[in-house]
Amino acid sequence: MTVGFSGLSEDLEDRKQQNLYRTRGVISTPQGIYVEIDGKQVTNFCSNDYLGLANHPDIVKSFKNAADNYGVGSGSAHLICGHSAAHHALEEELAEFTGRDRVLLFSTGYMANVGVISALLSRGDQVFEDKLNHASLLDGGLLSGARFKRYLHNDVEDLDQKIKPMSSRSLIVTDGVFSMDGDIAPLPELAALAAKKNAWLMVDDAHGFGVLGKSGGGVVQHYGLSQLEVPIVMGTLGKSFGTFGAFIAGSEQLIETLIQQARTYIFTTAFPAAIAEASRTSLKIVRSENWRREKLTHLVNYFRTNAIQLGLQLSATASAIQPILIGDSQRAVEISHQLLERGFLVSAIRPPTVPKGKARLRITFSANHDEQQLDQLLDALNLVCR
Ligand code: PMP
Repeated sequence: MTVGFSGLSEDLEDRKQQNLYRTRGVISTPQGIYVEIDGKQVTNFCSNDYLGLANHPDIVKSFKNAADNYGVGSGSAHLICGHSAAHHALEEELAEFTGRDRVLLFSTGYMANVGVISALLSRGDQVFEDKLNHASLLDGGLLSGARFKRYLHNDVEDLDQKIKPMSSRSLIVTDGVFSMDGDIAPLPELAALAAKKNAWLMVDDAHGFGVLGKSGGGVVQHYGLSQLEVPIVMGTLGKSFGTFGAFIAGSEQLIETLIQQARTYIFTTAFPAAIAEASRTSLKIVRSENWRREKLTHLVNYFRTNAIQLGLQLSATASAIQPILIGDSQRAVEISHQLLERGFLVSAIRPPTVPKGKARLRITFSANHDEQQLDQLLDALNLVCR
């Protein structure tokens, strides 16, 4: 006898009616500019593999060699027996790269965000989050039990008014590059306000790390902000680094506190050592191959200039995330399907990922794209967005 899940079918049907039902395409090739999805060959414009490293031969080779040395499974959490020499070396190299005292690896960015906020705050503290922050930051804030306040997107004045002086802890949390809008947080102003209000500042640099800054050091390198100014930095390895996992960078005391108290660090299996070795090779490439960032910047500028000429509605951002605002969810899904029929993989982003009425196409670029592929996408957008 099966247990009845009363109400679930109705809820699912409801989602379908509202064009909010999500499905997965099955990919049968490595990540790259061309992928096969559900048996169809397409040009990929929705991956976060901004530097084109997810299938880089040197990184694949490091992964394979490390699997020969370490096996596949890490065996346990870092605090038991899962913390390998590869993890340790990666932490030290990331600390040096980010200019922070220390780094702590987490199994995912989602877990890093939830872990750090809930380890630092509890009932009686307060957390201030940008309205458009990533879901994991919002979840971390809610889970912490602290007083939870959201401020208007990138609006430092609104935040200023909302922060009331308190004797307990206050934490300001922002995306570095906003994942669905592509714009960059006004970090220097946020850091100045945090100092004035005696608050801590945390930036989630999932989409800036590797891409922004002279050598890919991310949004803090882009603005030249020190550990004192931005004491908590979260970076991910599954996006521009092309591997998997995430880290928190900051002071000795911050990292030791997380090792003692971050539940998403303590109570989970460490990611495989082979991922750590692959990420060490990514780091070398990220640091040394400036051409990848330069090419990405060139492609984004090329796309924007031409898209504006076509009258497409772009956001004011020069990042690798270039959303085209559509508004209606059904229309966004239809356009995404039409693009797929023409051989382009572009995702439609709908509520609750973005606010109601703000459905969009989220177009992302990789250093491995070329102008010809962008021209083809622009032609297709010109046809289907009219
Ligand atoms: N923060 C932001 C801004 C993100 O876009 C994402 C991934 N979509 C995460 C955190 C979570 O990172 P991960 O995929 O490593 O869990």
